Amino acid sequence: MQVNSDRPMFYETVTTCEECDFVHRVPRLQQGERLRCEHCGHVLITLHKHAFARILGTGLSALLMLILALSFSFLGFSVNGLERTVSLFNTLSVLLSQGYLMLGAIITLALFVFPVVYLSSVLLLVASFRYPDRLRNIRRFCLRWLVVVQPWLMVDVFLVGILVALVKLSSLADISFKLSFWAFCGYVLLLLKTVVLVDKRWFWNRVAGPSSDHPIVSGTAKQQGLIGCRFCGATLAGNAHHCDRCGHSVYSRRPRSVVFTVALLIAALIMYIPANVFPIMETTFLGGTEPSTILGGVFVLWSMGSYPVALIILFASVVIPLAKVVSLSWLCWQSCYPSRRLTSQKITLYRWTELVGRWSMIDVFVVAILTSIVQMGQFMSILPGPAVLSFTAVIVLTMLAAMAFDPRLLWDKDASRTQAQEGEACERDT
Ligand SMILES: [Zn+2]
Ligand SMILES: [Zn+2]
Repeated sequence: MQVNSDRPMFYETVTTCEECDFVHRVPRLQQGERLRCEHCGHVLITLHKHAFARILGTGLSALLMLILALSFSFLGFSVNGLERTVSLFNTLSVLLSQGYLMLGAIITLALFVFPVVYLSSVLLLVASFRYPDRLRNIRRFCLRWLVVVQPWLMVDVFLVGILVALVKLSSLADISFKLSFWAFCGYVLLLLKTVVLVDKRWFWNRVAGPSSDHPIVSGTAKQQGLIGCRFCGATLAGNAHHCDRCGHSVYSRRPRSVVFTVALLIAALIMYIPANVFPIMETTFLGGTEPSTILGGVFVLWSMGSYPVALIILFASVVIPLAKVVSLSWLCWQSCYPSRRLTSQKITLYRWTELVGRWSMIDVFVVAILTSIVQMGQFMSILPGPAVLSFTAVIVLTMLAAMAFDPRLLWDKDASRTQAQEGEACERDT
């Protein structure tokens, strides 16, 4: 394909799959339809029914629920006649007053700052479409923030963390759910629904304007000297350095993807040692302090008969981080020295690795919640141990490693092997 323009060309009727780099024509979708990549099965675009109205409704309702969740009491805790009521603000103020600034910052970012930035961007984006000829830069700005913030939304993980913390406390105290707790549940559900309704490629197509007709090309963008933008799905000329639509840097394959991924995995493995050796939580009961590690907490839950919760913590805190390191290491190896295993199976493993990684934050949230609720001096109190930060570092580093890995590398080897097999078959035929 001949490209003579200095400005990167953008073929608006085609989109490039971010997972396998195959170029697809985008048909005119009906409401409720979705376009899947024919090659790897990745969902490219979903056109939700009445998307604007529903996003506006769920987004505004989520913000309203957040305001309610911050306005009232969250949980009640009573033991031996001593009662304590906490709000969501207490959760933060206790952590900050005890000097756990990093843990407080993590909770603030994951529960409030990132979701509010996300919801504000979504609402501003939808509202800006009322003025189609103006506010184009604002739309681009909002869309860029959506993509950046979305992987770090963890309100659902925090909600499960609350339930796990309450199971841990159930044998020691009476727990009561207050008004804010139910408002927080509504906030979580509405935020998740908003995330499901927002399709970044569909929005980019709306922001980029009406489609123009270009001949469809087959195969990967790289095979045709083109570059697919992983952020908005645009297909750009091979000499492009930045995406014309979203402004992100573009490259045919992420530079030094395997090296960065391996480096982040090694850092995660190093942090995994203190995360498991040092206590993650210190419990004071009647003057005596007892530290507990992640595995120690699992054993305590198991001995209490809370088998499902013990298994959740075991999987989320011990198995998933290790499994993520092993599977990403194997995928890095496969991108350099591919086995005969199907690439679609490797991609499925990569998707699962990306999907489950943030659920390891459960134990960090459990510690933060217990710290904020159980503060009764020498009678009974819970404080975070030194392992909290190293464990958080493990999770963040493995999440960054998954983002640094470029899954298109797996398909490259697949395509080159297929071409070699076809070449051999042709030679035999002649
Ligand atoms: Zn694909
Ligand atoms: Zn782009």
